[in-house]
Amino acid sequence: MPSYEGLAELMFPDVGLTPEHFENIYPPRQAKEGGRITRIAPSPTGYLHLGVLFTAMINKITARATQGVFYFRLEDTDKKREVEGGAEDILRGLNAYGIRPEEGFVAPDEIVGDYGPYRQSERAEIYHVYAKSLVAQGLAYPCFCSEEGRQTARSEQERQKVRTGYYGEFALCRRLTPQQASECINQGESYVVRLRSQGSEQNRIVFDDLIKGKIEMPENDEDLVLLKSDGIPTYHFAHAIDDHLMRTTHVIRGDEWISSVPKHIQLFKTLGFRPPKYAHVSPIMKDDGGGKRKLSKRKDPEAAVHYYAEQGYPADSVMEYLMTIASSDFEDWRRRSPKSPRSEFPFNLKKMSVSGALFDIDKLNDVSKTVISGMDAEQVTQAVLEWAKEYSPEFYTLMNRDYEYTKGIFSVDRGGPKPRKDIAKWSDTPDYTAYFFDETYAITDELPENINPRDGAEILDKYTLVYDAEQDKQQWFETIKAICPQVGFCPEVKEYKKNPEGYKGHAGDVSTIIRIAVTGRRNTPDLCGIMRLLGKERVLKRLQDFGYNLSNRI
Ligand code: GLU
Repeated sequence: MPSYEGLAELMFPDVGLTPEHFENIYPPRQAKEGGRITRIAPSPTGYLHLGVLFTAMINKITARATQGVFYFRLEDTDKKREVEGGAEDILRGLNAYGIRPEEGFVAPDEIVGDYGPYRQSERAEIYHVYAKSLVAQGLAYPCFCSEEGRQTARSEQERQKVRTGYYGEFALCRRLTPQQASECINQGESYVVRLRSQGSEQNRIVFDDLIKGKIEMPENDEDLVLLKSDGIPTYHFAHAIDDHLMRTTHVIRGDEWISSVPKHIQLFKTLGFRPPKYAHVSPIMKDDGGGKRKLSKRKDPEAAVHYYAEQGYPADSVMEYLMTIASSDFEDWRRRSPKSPRSEFPFNLKKMSVSGALFDIDKLNDVSKTVISGMDAEQVTQAVLEWAKEYSPEFYTLMNRDYEYTKGIFSVDRGGPKPRKDIAKWSDTPDYTAYFFDETYAITDELPENINPRDGAEILDKYTLVYDAEQDKQQWFETIKAICPQVGFCPEVKEYKKNPEGYKGHAGDVSTIIRIAVTGRRNTPDLCGIMRLLGKERVLKRLQDFGYNLSNRI
Protein backbone atom coordinates (compact mmCIF):
# COMPACT_ATOMS: atom_id res chain seq x y z
CA MET A 1 0.00 0.00 0.00
CA PRO A 2 1.90 3.15 -1.14
CA SER A 3 2.19 5.88 1.43
CA TYR A 4 2.66 9.60 0.78
CA GLU A 5 6.40 8.92 0.95
CA GLY A 6 6.04 6.21 -1.65
CA LEU A 7 4.05 8.53 -3.88
CA ALA A 8 6.71 11.22 -3.48
CA GLU A 9 9.40 8.72 -4.43
CA LEU A 10 7.44 7.68 -7.48
CA MET A 11 6.98 11.29 -8.56
CA PHE A 12 10.54 12.41 -7.92
CA PRO A 13 12.78 9.34 -8.24
CA ASP A 14 15.85 11.44 -9.03
CA VAL A 15 15.54 13.79 -6.09
CA GLY A 16 17.90 12.64 -3.36
CA LEU A 17 18.45 15.85 -1.45
CA THR A 18 16.30 17.19 1.35
CA PRO A 19 15.23 20.75 2.27
CA GLU A 20 17.79 20.69 5.12
CA HIS A 21 20.53 20.56 2.53
CA PHE A 22 19.46 23.91 1.12
CA GLU A 23 18.79 25.38 4.53
CA ASN A 24 22.43 24.66 5.29
CA ILE A 25 23.98 25.94 2.12
CA TYR A 26 21.94 29.16 2.20
CA PRO A 27 22.20 30.11 5.87
CA PRO A 28 20.60 33.28 7.21
CA ARG A 29 22.59 36.29 6.11
CA GLN A 30 25.08 38.02 8.29
CA ALA A 31 23.56 41.39 7.47
CA LYS A 32 23.71 44.22 9.93
CA GLU A 33 20.96 44.07 12.53
CA GLY A 34 17.82 45.40 10.87
CA GLY A 35 19.47 45.33 7.44
CA ARG A 36 16.75 44.78 4.90
CA ILE A 37 17.25 42.26 2.14
CA THR A 38 15.30 43.30 -0.95
CA ARG A 39 15.25 42.27 -4.55
CA ILE A 40 13.98 43.01 -8.01
CA ALA A 41 12.80 39.90 -9.80
CA PRO A 42 11.76 40.73 -13.34
CA SER A 43 10.76 38.35 -16.08
CA PRO A 44 12.65 38.82 -19.35
CA THR A 45 9.50 39.41 -21.35
CA GLY A 46 10.50 42.57 -23.20
CA TYR A 47 12.01 45.97 -22.69
CA LEU A 48 12.52 47.62 -19.32
CA HIS A 49 9.21 49.04 -18.16
CA LEU A 50 9.14 52.27 -16.17
CA GLY A 51 7.32 50.40 -13.39
CA VAL A 52 10.22 47.94 -13.04
CA LEU A 53 12.75 50.76 -12.86
CA PHE A 54 10.57 52.45 -10.26
CA THR A 55 10.18 49.30 -8.17
CA ALA A 56 13.90 48.55 -8.46
CA MET A 57 14.66 52.05 -7.19
CA ILE A 58 12.35 51.59 -4.20
CA ASN A 59 13.96 48.25 -3.39
CA LYS A 60 17.42 49.68 -3.71
CA ILE A 61 16.85 52.65 -1.45
CA THR A 62 15.01 50.52 1.09
CA ALA A 63 17.99 48.18 1.37
CA ARG A 64 20.52 50.99 1.35
CA ALA A 65 18.81 52.91 4.14
CA THR A 66 19.40 49.96 6.47
CA GLN A 67 22.73 48.79 5.06
CA GLY A 68 21.02 45.67 3.82
CA VAL A 69 21.38 43.99 0.45
CA PHE A 70 19.52 44.60 -2.79
CA TYR A 71 19.80 41.76 -5.30
CA PHE A 72 18.52 40.82 -8.76
CA ARG A 73 16.85 37.51 -9.57
CA LEU A 74 15.74 36.57 -13.05
CA GLU A 75 12.28 34.99 -13.16
CA ASP A 76 12.56 33.19 -16.47
CA THR A 77 10.25 30.24 -16.01
CA ASP A 78 7.79 31.31 -18.68
CA LYS A 79 9.70 30.36 -21.79
CA LYS A 80 6.77 31.22 -24.07
CA ARG A 81 6.84 34.88 -23.04
CA GLU A 82 10.60 35.20 -22.87
CA VAL A 83 12.19 37.63 -25.29
CA GLU A 84 15.67 37.01 -26.60
CA GLY A 85 18.10 39.41 -24.92
CA GLY A 86 15.33 40.61 -22.59
CA ALA A 87 17.33 40.05 -19.42
CA GLU A 88 20.35 41.91 -20.77
CA ASP A 89 18.11 44.81 -21.81
CA ILE A 90 16.64 45.07 -18.35
CA LEU A 91 20.02 44.99 -16.68
CA ARG A 92 21.60 47.41 -19.10
CA GLY A 93 18.62 49.70 -18.53
CA LEU A 94 18.87 49.50 -14.75
CA ASN A 95 22.61 50.06 -14.85
CA ALA A 96 22.14 53.11 -17.09
CA TYR A 97 19.93 54.63 -14.39
CA GLY A 98 22.48 54.05 -11.70
CA ILE A 99 20.91 50.85 -10.38
CA ARG A 100 23.52 48.21 -10.00
CA PRO A 101 22.27 45.51 -7.65
CA GLU A 102 24.87 44.32 -5.17
CA GLU A 103 24.10 40.69 -5.69
CA GLY A 104 22.65 38.28 -8.25
CA PHE A 105 22.78 39.69 -11.76
CA VAL A 106 24.58 42.94 -11.21
CA ALA A 107 25.19 43.70 -14.90
CA PRO A 108 24.30 41.92 -18.18
CA ASP A 109 27.14 39.44 -17.90
CA GLU A 110 28.08 39.62 -14.27
CA ILE A 111 26.60 37.49 -11.52
CA VAL A 112 27.84 37.61 -7.93
CA GLY A 113 26.70 36.22 -4.60
CA ASP A 114 26.38 33.06 -2.53
CA TYR A 115 22.62 32.65 -2.70
CA GLY A 116 22.33 31.63 -6.37
CA PRO A 117 21.59 30.40 -8.90
CA TYR A 118 19.85 33.72 -9.49
CA ARG A 119 18.11 32.49 -12.62
CA GLN A 120 14.98 30.49 -11.87
CA SER A 121 15.44 28.21 -14.85
CA GLU A 122 18.58 26.92 -13.10
CA ARG A 123 16.78 26.18 -9.83
CA ALA A 124 14.58 23.25 -10.94
CA GLU A 125 16.36 20.86 -8.60
CA ILE A 126 15.64 23.06 -5.59
CA TYR A 127 11.93 23.39 -6.37
CA HIS A 128 11.64 19.64 -6.84
CA VAL A 129 13.22 18.90 -3.48
CA TYR A 130 10.64 21.04 -1.70
CA ALA A 131 7.77 19.69 -3.81
CA LYS A 132 8.84 16.15 -2.99
CA SER A 133 8.99 16.94 0.68
CA LEU A 134 5.47 18.41 0.62
CA VAL A 135 4.07 15.35 -1.21
CA ALA A 136 5.80 13.06 1.29
CA GLN A 137 4.05 14.90 4.12
CA GLY A 138 0.68 14.77 2.37
CA LEU A 139 0.77 18.55 1.93
CA ALA A 140 0.85 18.42 -1.87
CA TYR A 141 -0.46 15.95 -4.41
CA PRO A 142 -0.48 15.17 -8.11
CA CYS A 143 -3.53 16.37 -10.01
CA PHE A 144 -4.49 14.62 -13.22
CA CYS A 145 -7.44 16.81 -14.21
CA SER A 146 -7.31 17.72 -17.88
CA GLU A 147 -7.88 21.23 -19.17
CA GLU A 148 -11.30 20.11 -20.48
CA GLY A 149 -12.16 18.62 -17.13
CA ARG A 150 -11.22 21.88 -15.45
CA GLN A 151 -13.35 23.83 -17.89
CA THR A 152 -16.37 21.60 -17.18
CA ALA A 153 -15.83 22.07 -13.46
CA ARG A 154 -15.67 25.84 -13.92
CA SER A 155 -18.93 25.87 -15.87
CA GLU A 156 -20.54 23.81 -13.15
CA GLN A 157 -19.34 26.30 -10.51
CA GLU A 158 -20.73 29.16 -12.54
CA ARG A 159 -24.05 27.35 -12.85
CA GLN A 160 -24.14 26.80 -9.10
CA LYS A 161 -23.12 30.46 -8.62
CA VAL A 162 -20.18 29.57 -6.45
CA ARG A 163 -16.59 30.76 -6.59
CA THR A 164 -14.64 29.19 -9.44
CA GLY A 165 -11.38 27.46 -8.65
CA TYR A 166 -9.81 24.23 -7.48
CA TYR A 167 -10.75 23.98 -3.83
CA GLY A 168 -12.69 21.91 -1.31
CA GLU A 169 -15.16 19.53 -2.88
CA PHE A 170 -14.18 20.75 -6.36
CA ALA A 171 -10.60 19.65 -5.87
CA LEU A 172 -11.20 16.19 -7.32
CA CYS A 173 -7.68 14.81 -7.21
CA ARG A 174 -7.24 15.84 -3.61
CA ARG A 175 -9.38 12.85 -2.73
CA LEU A 176 -7.22 10.32 -4.55
CA THR A 177 -5.39 7.96 -2.23
CA PRO A 178 -1.63 7.59 -2.72
CA GLN A 179 -2.48 4.21 -4.22
CA GLN A 180 -4.87 5.68 -6.82
CA ALA A 181 -2.49 8.51 -7.63
CA SER A 182 0.40 6.06 -8.04
CA GLU A 183 -1.66 4.00 -10.46
CA CYS A 184 -2.39 7.05 -12.63
CA ILE A 185 1.31 7.89 -12.66
CA ASN A 186 2.23 4.36 -13.55
CA GLN A 187 -0.17 4.54 -16.44
CA GLY A 188 1.76 7.54 -17.70
CA GLU A 189 -0.92 10.16 -17.07
CA SER A 190 0.32 13.70 -17.10
CA TYR A 191 -0.12 15.71 -13.93
CA VAL A 192 0.57 18.94 -12.14
CA VAL A 193 1.51 19.17 -8.46
CA ARG A 194 -0.94 21.03 -6.24
CA LEU A 195 -0.80 22.26 -2.71
CA ARG A 196 -3.23 20.53 -0.38
CA SER A 197 -4.51 23.75 1.11
CA GLN A 198 -5.11 23.70 4.85
CA GLY A 199 -7.04 26.96 4.72
CA SER A 200 -10.71 27.83 4.87
CA GLU A 201 -12.67 30.64 3.21
CA GLN A 202 -14.35 31.28 6.55
CA ASN A 203 -11.10 32.32 8.21
CA ARG A 204 -9.59 35.76 7.65
CA ILE A 205 -5.95 36.61 7.46
CA VAL A 206 -4.62 40.01 8.36
CA PHE A 207 -1.28 41.34 7.25
CA ASP A 208 0.41 44.66 7.44
CA ASP A 209 1.43 45.92 4.04
CA LEU A 210 4.24 48.43 4.50
CA ILE A 211 2.74 50.75 1.88
CA LYS A 212 -0.97 50.02 1.93
CA GLY A 213 -1.39 49.42 5.63
CA LYS A 214 -3.42 46.72 7.33
CA ILE A 215 -5.14 44.37 4.89
CA GLU A 216 -7.65 41.68 5.71
CA MET A 217 -8.58 38.90 3.28
CA PRO A 218 -10.13 35.45 3.42
CA GLU A 219 -7.65 32.66 3.96
CA ASN A 220 -6.60 30.73 0.89
CA ASP A 221 -8.41 27.44 0.33
CA GLU A 222 -7.32 26.89 -3.27
CA ASP A 223 -5.21 23.89 -4.05
CA LEU A 224 -2.96 26.01 -6.18
CA VAL A 225 -0.55 24.57 -8.69
CA LEU A 226 3.04 24.38 -7.45
CA LEU A 227 4.66 22.62 -10.38
CA LYS A 228 3.28 22.58 -13.89
CA SER A 229 3.15 19.33 -15.89
CA ASP A 230 6.65 19.98 -17.25
CA GLY A 231 8.02 20.36 -13.71
CA ILE A 232 8.39 24.14 -13.97
CA PRO A 233 7.22 25.97 -10.84
CA THR A 234 4.46 28.54 -10.79
CA TYR A 235 5.31 32.06 -9.68
CA HIS A 236 3.73 31.40 -6.28
CA PHE A 237 5.84 28.36 -5.46
CA ALA A 238 9.07 29.83 -6.81
CA HIS A 239 8.44 33.07 -4.92
CA ALA A 240 8.14 31.27 -1.58
CA ILE A 241 11.20 29.10 -2.10
CA ASP A 242 13.46 31.69 -3.67
CA ASP A 243 12.64 34.50 -1.31
CA HIS A 244 13.09 32.18 1.64
CA LEU A 245 16.38 30.67 0.50
CA MET A 246 17.76 33.98 -0.68
CA ARG A 247 16.75 35.29 2.73
CA THR A 248 14.69 38.20 1.47
CA THR A 249 13.26 40.14 4.38
CA HIS A 250 11.14 42.62 2.40
CA VAL A 251 9.24 41.73 -0.75
CA ILE A 252 8.53 45.02 -2.50
CA ARG A 253 6.69 44.37 -5.74
CA GLY A 254 3.84 45.54 -7.98
CA ASP A 255 0.42 45.55 -6.38
CA GLU A 256 -1.01 43.16 -8.97
CA TRP A 257 0.27 40.53 -6.51
CA ILE A 258 -1.60 41.78 -3.51
CA SER A 259 -4.57 39.46 -4.00
CA SER A 260 -2.14 36.52 -3.98
CA VAL A 261 -0.75 37.31 -0.54
CA PRO A 262 -3.06 34.80 1.24
CA LYS A 263 -1.68 32.08 -1.05
CA HIS A 264 1.85 33.19 -0.40
CA ILE A 265 1.56 33.39 3.35
CA GLN A 266 0.02 29.93 3.38
CA LEU A 267 2.80 28.57 1.21
CA PHE A 268 5.49 30.03 3.43
CA LYS A 269 3.85 28.52 6.48
CA THR A 270 3.24 25.12 4.88
CA LEU A 271 6.87 24.99 3.82
CA GLY A 272 7.91 25.87 7.35
CA PHE A 273 9.31 29.27 6.34
CA ARG A 274 8.87 32.59 8.01
CA PRO A 275 6.96 34.92 5.63
CA PRO A 276 8.73 38.11 4.56
CA LYS A 277 7.29 41.57 5.06
CA TYR A 278 5.35 42.76 2.05
CA ALA A 279 5.12 46.19 0.45
CA HIS A 280 2.97 46.50 -2.66
CA VAL A 281 3.83 49.37 -4.94
CA SER A 282 0.91 51.00 -6.73
CA PRO A 283 1.34 51.31 -10.47
CA ILE A 284 2.32 54.59 -12.06
CA MET A 285 -0.90 56.06 -13.43
CA LYS A 286 -1.71 58.23 -16.38
CA ASP A 287 -4.39 60.85 -16.70
CA ASP A 288 -6.46 59.72 -19.66
CA GLY A 289 -8.94 62.45 -20.47
CA GLY A 290 -10.00 62.95 -16.87
CA GLY A 291 -9.86 59.29 -15.76
CA LYS A 292 -6.84 57.64 -14.20
CA ARG A 293 -5.46 54.45 -15.66
CA LYS A 294 -2.29 52.41 -15.42
CA LEU A 295 0.57 53.49 -17.63
CA SER A 296 0.23 50.95 -20.40
CA LYS A 297 2.96 49.13 -22.26
CA ARG A 298 0.82 49.12 -25.35
CA LYS A 299 -0.59 52.63 -25.41
CA ASP A 300 2.03 54.85 -23.81
CA PRO A 301 5.50 55.27 -25.28
CA GLU A 302 6.66 56.72 -21.95
CA ALA A 303 6.02 53.36 -20.28
CA ALA A 304 9.25 52.06 -21.85
CA VAL A 305 12.41 53.30 -20.19
CA HIS A 306 14.01 53.40 -23.61
CA TYR A 307 11.79 56.37 -24.43
CA TYR A 308 13.71 58.57 -22.00
CA ALA A 309 17.04 57.74 -23.58
CA GLU A 310 15.68 58.47 -27.04
CA GLN A 311 14.26 61.80 -25.91
CA GLY A 312 17.53 62.55 -24.19
CA TYR A 313 16.45 62.89 -20.58
CA PRO A 314 19.52 62.54 -18.39
CA ALA A 315 19.28 59.44 -16.17
CA ASP A 316 19.59 61.74 -13.20
CA SER A 317 16.45 63.65 -14.23
CA VAL A 318 14.41 60.48 -14.57
CA MET A 319 15.54 59.20 -11.17
CA GLU A 320 14.95 62.57 -9.55
CA TYR A 321 11.45 62.63 -11.04
CA LEU A 322 10.74 59.06 -9.94
CA MET A 323 11.66 60.10 -6.41
CA THR A 324 9.04 62.85 -6.55
CA ILE A 325 6.41 60.25 -7.36
CA ALA A 326 7.83 57.75 -4.88
CA SER A 327 7.57 60.00 -1.90
CA SER A 328 5.22 62.85 -1.16
CA ASP A 329 7.83 64.69 0.89
CA PHE A 330 10.73 64.41 -1.54
CA GLU A 331 10.12 67.80 -3.15
CA ASP A 332 10.10 69.62 0.18
CA TRP A 333 13.34 67.92 1.07
CA ARG A 334 14.82 68.86 -2.31
CA ARG A 335 13.85 72.52 -1.80
CA ARG A 336 15.63 72.47 1.53
CA SER A 337 18.63 70.55 0.21
CA PRO A 338 19.06 71.53 -3.44
CA LYS A 339 22.61 70.22 -3.67
CA SER A 340 22.41 67.04 -1.60
CA PRO A 341 22.70 63.65 -3.27
CA ARG A 342 19.39 61.79 -3.42
CA SER A 343 20.90 59.03 -1.30
CA GLU A 344 20.63 61.34 1.70
CA PHE A 345 16.87 61.60 1.41
CA PRO A 346 15.27 59.72 4.34
CA PHE A 347 12.95 57.51 2.32
CA ASN A 348 10.02 55.84 4.02
CA LEU A 349 7.77 53.27 2.33
CA LYS A 350 4.84 54.62 4.32
CA LYS A 351 5.00 57.89 2.39
CA MET A 352 4.28 56.14 -0.90
CA SER A 353 1.01 56.72 -2.70
CA VAL A 354 -1.58 54.05 -1.96
CA SER A 355 -3.68 54.67 -5.04
CA GLY A 356 -0.92 55.20 -7.61
CA ALA A 357 0.94 58.38 -8.42
CA LEU A 358 0.15 60.18 -11.62
CA PHE A 359 2.81 60.33 -14.30
CA ASP A 360 3.17 63.93 -15.42
CA ILE A 361 5.48 64.69 -18.30
CA ASP A 362 5.38 68.46 -17.63
CA LYS A 363 6.60 67.79 -14.15
CA LEU A 364 9.36 65.56 -15.49
CA ASN A 365 10.37 68.39 -17.83
CA ASP A 366 10.48 70.86 -14.95
CA VAL A 367 12.52 68.52 -12.80
CA SER A 368 14.85 67.82 -15.69
CA LYS A 369 15.32 71.52 -16.47
CA THR A 370 16.48 72.03 -12.91
CA VAL A 371 18.81 69.03 -13.11
CA ILE A 372 20.30 70.21 -16.40
CA SER A 373 20.63 73.79 -15.16
CA GLY A 374 22.92 72.44 -12.46
CA MET A 375 25.32 70.83 -14.96
CA ASP A 376 28.36 72.64 -16.25
CA ALA A 377 28.99 73.33 -19.93
CA GLU A 378 31.41 70.43 -20.24
CA GLN A 379 28.88 67.95 -18.89
CA VAL A 380 26.13 69.25 -21.12
CA THR A 381 28.33 69.20 -24.19
CA GLN A 382 29.43 65.63 -23.55
CA ALA A 383 25.88 64.47 -22.94
CA VAL A 384 24.50 66.23 -26.01
CA LEU A 385 27.23 64.74 -28.19
CA GLU A 386 26.55 61.28 -26.83
CA TRP A 387 22.81 61.63 -27.38
CA ALA A 388 23.15 63.14 -30.85
CA LYS A 389 25.60 60.48 -31.99
CA GLU A 390 22.99 57.84 -31.35
CA TYR A 391 19.72 59.59 -32.13
CA SER A 392 20.38 62.54 -34.42
CA PRO A 393 23.36 62.00 -36.75
CA GLU A 394 23.00 65.25 -38.72
CA PHE A 395 22.86 67.30 -35.57
CA TYR A 396 25.85 65.35 -34.30
CA THR A 397 27.86 66.51 -37.30
CA LEU A 398 27.12 70.13 -36.41
CA MET A 399 27.79 69.68 -32.72
CA ASN A 400 31.00 67.79 -33.30
CA ARG A 401 32.49 70.25 -35.79
CA ASP A 402 34.17 72.47 -33.21
CA TYR A 403 34.13 71.24 -29.64
CA GLU A 404 35.07 74.58 -28.10
CA TYR A 405 32.36 76.39 -30.04
CA THR A 406 29.75 73.82 -28.96
CA LYS A 407 30.89 74.13 -25.39
CA GLY A 408 30.64 77.91 -25.79
CA ILE A 409 26.98 77.53 -26.78
CA PHE A 410 26.23 75.65 -23.58
CA SER A 411 28.26 78.09 -21.52
CA VAL A 412 25.88 80.98 -22.27
CA ASP A 413 23.98 81.75 -19.06
CA ARG A 414 25.32 78.66 -17.33
CA GLY A 415 27.20 78.41 -14.08
CA GLY A 416 25.94 81.64 -12.51
CA PRO A 417 23.84 81.82 -9.35
CA LYS A 418 20.59 81.79 -11.36
CA PRO A 419 21.14 79.55 -14.35
CA ARG A 420 18.40 79.47 -16.97
CA LYS A 421 16.19 76.43 -16.94
CA ASP A 422 15.49 76.06 -20.60
CA ILE A 423 16.64 72.59 -21.62
CA ALA A 424 14.54 69.67 -20.43
CA LYS A 425 16.06 66.98 -22.61
CA TRP A 426 18.81 66.68 -25.18
CA SER A 427 16.29 66.47 -28.01
CA ASP A 428 15.49 70.13 -27.21
CA THR A 429 19.03 71.12 -28.17
CA PRO A 430 18.79 71.04 -32.00
CA ASP A 431 16.24 73.84 -31.71
CA TYR A 432 18.01 75.49 -28.78
CA THR A 433 21.26 75.74 -30.74
CA ALA A 434 19.81 76.37 -34.21
CA TYR A 435 20.89 80.01 -34.57
CA PHE A 436 24.48 79.23 -33.69
CA PHE A 437 24.93 77.65 -37.09
CA ASP A 438 24.32 79.32 -40.44
CA GLU A 439 22.86 76.05 -41.74
CA THR A 440 20.04 76.15 -39.22
CA TYR A 441 19.65 79.85 -38.46
CA ALA A 442 16.23 81.17 -39.55
CA ILE A 443 13.96 84.06 -38.60
CA THR A 444 11.13 82.27 -36.84
CA ASP A 445 9.62 85.01 -34.67
CA GLU A 446 7.69 88.12 -35.66
CA LEU A 447 8.49 91.70 -34.64
CA PRO A 448 6.59 92.83 -31.54
CA GLU A 449 3.24 94.37 -32.53
CA ASN A 450 4.17 97.86 -31.42
CA ILE A 451 7.19 98.13 -33.70
CA ASN A 452 6.87 98.79 -37.36
CA PRO A 453 9.37 97.48 -39.91
CA ARG A 454 10.56 100.97 -40.78
CA ASP A 455 11.66 101.61 -37.19
CA GLY A 456 13.12 98.14 -37.02
CA ALA A 457 15.21 98.76 -40.11
CA GLU A 458 16.37 102.11 -38.76
CA ILE A 459 17.36 100.63 -35.43
CA LEU A 460 19.43 97.93 -37.12
CA ASP A 461 21.03 100.52 -39.34
CA LYS A 462 22.06 102.67 -36.41
CA TYR A 463 23.16 99.74 -34.34
CA THR A 464 25.36 98.38 -37.09
CA LEU A 465 27.34 101.59 -36.92
CA VAL A 466 28.03 101.40 -33.19
CA TYR A 467 28.17 97.64 -32.64
CA ASP A 468 31.42 96.64 -30.99
CA ALA A 469 32.10 92.93 -30.69
CA GLU A 470 34.49 93.45 -27.77
CA GLN A 471 31.98 94.99 -25.36
CA ASP A 472 31.01 93.34 -22.10
CA LYS A 473 27.42 92.94 -21.09
CA GLN A 474 27.11 96.30 -19.43
CA GLN A 475 28.77 98.27 -22.24
CA TRP A 476 26.69 96.33 -24.70
CA PHE A 477 23.47 97.46 -23.05
CA GLU A 478 24.70 101.04 -22.73
CA THR A 479 25.25 101.07 -26.48
CA ILE A 480 21.69 99.93 -27.05
CA LYS A 481 20.39 102.60 -24.73
CA ALA A 482 22.48 105.19 -26.49
CA ILE A 483 20.80 104.68 -29.85
CA CYS A 484 17.31 104.91 -28.36
CA PRO A 485 16.91 108.70 -28.55
CA GLN A 486 18.12 108.70 -32.16
CA VAL A 487 15.19 106.51 -33.17
CA GLY A 488 12.47 107.86 -30.89
CA PHE A 489 12.67 105.07 -28.30
CA CYS A 490 13.04 105.59 -24.55
CA PRO A 491 16.32 104.33 -22.97
CA GLU A 492 14.64 103.61 -19.61
CA VAL A 493 11.67 101.28 -19.30
CA LYS A 494 10.46 103.07 -16.17
CA GLU A 495 10.48 106.39 -17.94
CA TYR A 496 8.64 104.88 -20.87
CA LYS A 497 5.91 103.48 -18.64
CA LYS A 498 5.22 106.92 -17.25
CA ASN A 499 4.73 108.35 -20.70
CA PRO A 500 4.13 105.61 -23.29
CA GLU A 501 2.62 108.08 -25.74
CA GLY A 502 5.86 110.02 -25.89
CA TYR A 503 7.92 107.20 -27.44
CA LYS A 504 7.74 104.51 -30.09
CA GLY A 505 9.00 101.95 -27.61
CA HIS A 506 11.83 101.41 -25.11
CA ALA A 507 15.35 99.96 -24.89
CA GLY A 508 13.91 96.46 -24.36
CA ASP A 509 12.18 96.71 -27.73
CA VAL A 510 15.39 97.82 -29.37
CA SER A 511 17.24 94.83 -28.01
CA THR A 512 14.38 92.58 -29.14
CA ILE A 513 14.84 93.74 -32.71
CA ILE A 514 18.56 93.07 -32.51
CA ARG A 515 17.79 89.71 -30.91
CA ILE A 516 15.47 88.72 -33.72
CA ALA A 517 18.03 89.78 -36.30
CA VAL A 518 20.84 87.83 -34.68
CA THR A 519 18.97 84.72 -33.55
CA GLY A 520 15.64 84.75 -35.35
CA ARG A 521 13.94 84.57 -31.92
CA ARG A 522 12.36 86.96 -29.46
CA ASN A 523 13.47 84.91 -26.52
CA THR A 524 17.01 83.65 -25.95
CA PRO A 525 19.66 83.42 -23.25
CA ASP A 526 22.08 86.29 -22.81
CA LEU A 527 22.24 88.01 -26.20
CA CYS A 528 25.57 89.69 -25.58
CA GLY A 529 27.13 86.28 -24.87
CA ILE A 530 25.51 84.82 -27.97
CA MET A 531 26.84 87.63 -30.16
CA ARG A 532 30.33 87.24 -28.80
CA LEU A 533 30.28 83.58 -29.64
CA LEU A 534 28.85 84.11 -33.10
CA GLY A 535 31.62 86.58 -33.90
CA LYS A 536 31.60 90.00 -35.47
CA GLU A 537 31.35 89.04 -39.10
CA ARG A 538 28.38 86.77 -38.68
CA VAL A 539 26.55 89.22 -36.42
CA LEU A 540 27.04 92.12 -38.84
CA LYS A 541 25.79 90.05 -41.72
CA ARG A 542 22.67 89.03 -39.82
CA LEU A 543 21.98 92.62 -38.72
CA GLN A 544 22.31 93.82 -42.27
CA ASP A 545 20.30 90.99 -43.81
CA PHE A 546 17.42 91.44 -41.41
CA GLY A 547 17.54 95.24 -41.82
CA TYR A 548 17.27 94.69 -45.56
CA ASN A 549 14.43 92.22 -45.05
CA LEU A 550 12.55 94.80 -42.96
CA SER A 551 13.07 97.60 -45.45
CA ASN A 552 11.53 95.38 -48.07
CA ARG A 553 8.43 95.08 -45.93
CA ILE A 554 7.87 98.82 -45.82
N1 GLU B 1 8.48 38.12 -11.94
C1 GLU B 1 7.48 38.83 -11.22
C2 GLU B 1 6.97 39.95 -12.08
O1 GLU B 1 7.68 40.34 -12.98
C3 GLU B 1 8.10 39.38 -9.96
C4 GLU B 1 7.16 39.83 -8.94
C5 GLU B 1 7.92 39.94 -7.62
O2 GLU B 1 8.65 40.90 -7.47
O3 GLU B 1 7.77 39.05 -6.80
O4 GLU B 1 5.88 40.43 -11.89
